[in-house]
Amino acid sequence: MDLYLGIDYGTSGARAVVIDEQGNVQTEVRYPLQKKTAQHWSHRLWSLLADIPEPLRQQIKAIAINGTSSTVLLCDGAGKPVDVPLLYNDARGAVVLEQLKEIAPPNHTVLSATSSLAKLLWMSQQPFFAEARYLLHQADWLAFLLHGQLGISDYHNALKLGYDVEALEYPKWLNQLAIPIQLPQVLAPGTPIAEIRPDIAMQFRFHRDCLVCAGTTDSIAAFIASGAELPGEAVTSLGSTLVLKLLSHTRIEDARYGIYSHRFGDLWLTGGASNTGGAVLREFFTNAELENLSREIDPAKISNLDYYPLLQPGDRFPINDPKLPPRLTPRPETPREFLHGLLESIARIEARGYELLQSLGANQVQRVYTAGGGATNSTWTAIRQRHLKVPVVASVYTEAAYGTALLAKTKYRNSQ
Ligand code: ADP
Repeated sequence: MDLYLGIDYGTSGARAVVIDEQGNVQTEVRYPLQKKTAQHWSHRLWSLLADIPEPLRQQIKAIAINGTSSTVLLCDGAGKPVDVPLLYNDARGAVVLEQLKEIAPPNHTVLSATSSLAKLLWMSQQPFFAEARYLLHQADWLAFLLHGQLGISDYHNALKLGYDVEALEYPKWLNQLAIPIQLPQVLAPGTPIAEIRPDIAMQFRFHRDCLVCAGTTDSIAAFIASGAELPGEAVTSLGSTLVLKLLSHTRIEDARYGIYSHRFGDLWLTGGASNTGGAVLREFFTNAELENLSREIDPAKISNLDYYPLLQPGDRFPINDPKLPPRLTPRPETPREFLHGLLESIARIEARGYELLQSLGANQVQRVYTAGGGATNSTWTAIRQRHLKVPVVASVYTEAAYGTALLAKTKYRNSQ
C-alpha cells in the first residue's frame, strides 16, 4: 500500500495524519505545542514520527509539513537556529513598518507588523543576526530536519515575505533592503524536494526512497482538506470568526477589505475574514443551547432581525469600517427568535462576502464547504443555503494535517 504523511504545526498543537491512496485516514497522532522554541518543535516532530505504527511508516511514499503563516526563524549555515523563532502573531515588526513602506508597493501584504518580511527586517537589526545565514519559515525548517537541504520554501509560506507569486520570483524592490541573508528558493507547495535523510530513515524505519515535499501554511492546508479544488468552490470557516475562501481563475487583491489571493496551482485562492462569527454566539449561548435551540428553528422561515453581530466595534470584510458598531437589537422575546436572528444575520454577512469577492472579479460560487464549530448546525446550513443559493455541505475533513497529506499525495502522484 502507498501511504502519505501530512504534518501540521498549528497555533496550539502538532498533528500527523497518514492517508492511503483513496484518502482514507490510516492513523492520526497529536501533541500539544507548549514551548515557543525550535528545539521543542523538533522534539515534537520526532515524537510524532515515533508514534506512527512502524508497518505504516515503512509504506509512506511522501511527507509534507505545514506551519503557521509568518512564523519564521534565522539559522546558521548548518541549520541551527541563531535565536528563538518569531511566531505568526509576533508584532515586533511594527517598529520597521515605516522603513518598509519606503520600498514596498502601497498596500502590499508585507506592510503588516506580523508579516515575515517585517520580522526579517526587525531581526536584521538585532545582535544575533551576525550569525544568521538563512531565513526559513516554520514549515521549511521542519522539512529541512527531514531532507537535510537548507534554504527551500514554498510560495504559500513565501507570500508574506514579499515573494511575487504571479511572476514566481522575488521582486526587485526587495533588493533595496540589502539584508545579507539567503532568502529561500521558492517551490510550488508539495513539490518533492529530496529523499528523507538516510539516518532518519534508518532510525524510524522509513523506506529509503520516501520523499520529503515542499510544504504550505496551516490555513491553506485546512482549505485543501475540504476537497475543494475547482474554480467556484469555496470553504466557509464558521469558527470564532467567519472566514471565506473561494477558488477563482482571477487574482483578487484589495487591501481596503483585507482581501488577498494565494496562488493555488493554475488558480487563485482568494478570501476575506470578518470579525463576526461563533465568538458572538458563544457570548449569548452555550454549545448545548446552540444545538437545542437551533433544532426548534424552522430554517425555511426568514427572520427579519437584521443584526451585525460583533463583540466590539469594527470590521474589515465585507464592510470595511474600523468603527462599525455591533448591531444586536431589537432583542426579541425568546432566545430561539434571538438565535434565529443571529444565524440569519451571519448568513447574510457570509453571502455579502461572497458577493463582494465576485463583484471584484472572482468566479461565481458553485458550492460551499463548511468547516469550524458551526458546520455541524444543520439549521444554520439550511438558512445559509437559502442565502447563498448553491449547495452548502459540511467538509468531511477539516484538519490541516489531512490537507497536507493530500497535498503530498497529489504532488507525489503527479511527479511519478
Ligand atoms: P475556533 O475558530 O476558535 O477554532 P471552532 O471551529 O472550534 O473555533 O468553533 C467554535 C465556535 O463554534 C464557537 O464560537 C461556538 O460558538 C460555535 N459553535 C459551536 N457549536 C455550534 C452550533 N451547534 N451552532 C453554531 N455554532 C456553534
